[in-house]
Amino acid sequence: MYDLIVKDALIVTCNEEHTIIKNAVMAIREGIIEVLSPAESNIAKTLKAKKTISAENRMVLPGLINMHCHAGDSLFRGLVENLPLEAWLNRVWIAEKAILKPHTTYLGSVLGFAENLLSGVTSVMDMFWYPHEAVRAAQMLGMRVSTGGIFFDFPGIGERNHDRYIEEAREFSHRYTGTQDVFPVVMPHGTYTVCPEHLKEAKTIADAENALFCTHAAETKAEQADIQNRYGNTVIRHMDKHDLLGERTVLAHCVHVDEGEIDLITQSETTVVHNPMSNLKLASGIAPTIQMQKAGVRLTLGTDGAISGNDLDMWLAMRLASSLAKGVAMEPAALPAKDVLHMATLNGAQALGQEKTLGSLEVGKQADFIFVDVNTAHSVPLFDPITHCVFGAGRSDVSDVFVAGAQVVKDHTLTRHDLSETLSEVKSLMPFIKNSLSDA
Ligand SMILES: [Zn+2]
Repeated sequence: MYDLIVKDALIVTCNEEHTIIKNAVMAIREGIIEVLSPAESNIAKTLKAKKTISAENRMVLPGLINMHCHAGDSLFRGLVENLPLEAWLNRVWIAEKAILKPHTTYLGSVLGFAENLLSGVTSVMDMFWYPHEAVRAAQMLGMRVSTGGIFFDFPGIGERNHDRYIEEAREFSHRYTGTQDVFPVVMPHGTYTVCPEHLKEAKTIADAENALFCTHAAETKAEQADIQNRYGNTVIRHMDKHDLLGERTVLAHCVHVDEGEIDLITQSETTVVHNPMSNLKLASGIAPTIQMQKAGVRLTLGTDGAISGNDLDMWLAMRLASSLAKGVAMEPAALPAKDVLHMATLNGAQALGQEKTLGSLEVGKQADFIFVDVNTAHSVPLFDPITHCVFGAGRSDVSDVFVAGAQVVKDHTLTRHDLSETLSEVKSLMPFIKNSLSDA
């Protein structure tokens, strides 16, 4: 007896071969996919479950993996506009410092994670000030999160000094190692905000605790110039020199990288997170995704925080990633839909070290899956489901979301949390958030 059977499913597996199974049946027991088969198969005809649901008129995809987010920053969406990254960050930090306490961070995290989950994202890598609050928010909503202690050279929010950064990163990683819903990562902010000694300390903690290591890298030209001035090196070479690259390292952005830096990223098997919306809106530039793909870099996709790109929409990220690559190269076959869909699913799972459990719908993997409505004016006729995912579908088409076989979004509504409570609490904070910048 299975716990759940999904029938009448058009399954976009996102496996290595990009297999699509029409009229499929998926059977789940204890959160794991045990059967995935066409409805006419012998095994499919004999299945019995406690609950059966029909996915008629829906595509079924693995939950998306957003590899770069600052969910708590959703509190500040639209507050700081029309500035380049460096000036923009200085304003953001003033607002964060005035507003963020554990509870407000939790509130922002619920808001940001809810936006992710309602749009079909089941795993998020999140960099923010109170990582335990992010975990609390993600677990309450029923999704997976990769997060952990952050590092800056300046005192951070919550009276953090360097000893506290170290302690928090170590303690967090230690606590969540080996869990299925929290993937620990040590997260120094960037090479321009954290000195080499502290970056190395952060990497040492990540390695010792078997955690991931993530930082912002080569996001703007100004950042490259700054690192060149300070250390006489480009950002990625600087990181390489200090042994910060590797298969457990995740670099957000990599907009301004030269051929040699791309080689270093490839050879070290470092992951890159492409954040097209944030890079465009902050006028940082367009990442050389085609060159990185050709070199063999593991490319993943992220939204960044809602304060830079103003939404947390992985469907928009997919469409921009493919369209920008084609437009920049003037090559319509560049970065095709199937590759971009992998950036948002399987590649993310590989980057998290979870490729055996997440990122595609396959027997033996966790049952993290989403329903996408394909009975709409913008999806009929549906000749190519993968192209539709990237160029036709949008987040409002995501109707239902399951994590480890448990339904966490039903008919566009969270099942474990009344979002209206969060929305009214955030609205009541608005005057304080607005005032946080009045003297700045
Ligand atoms: Zn970021």
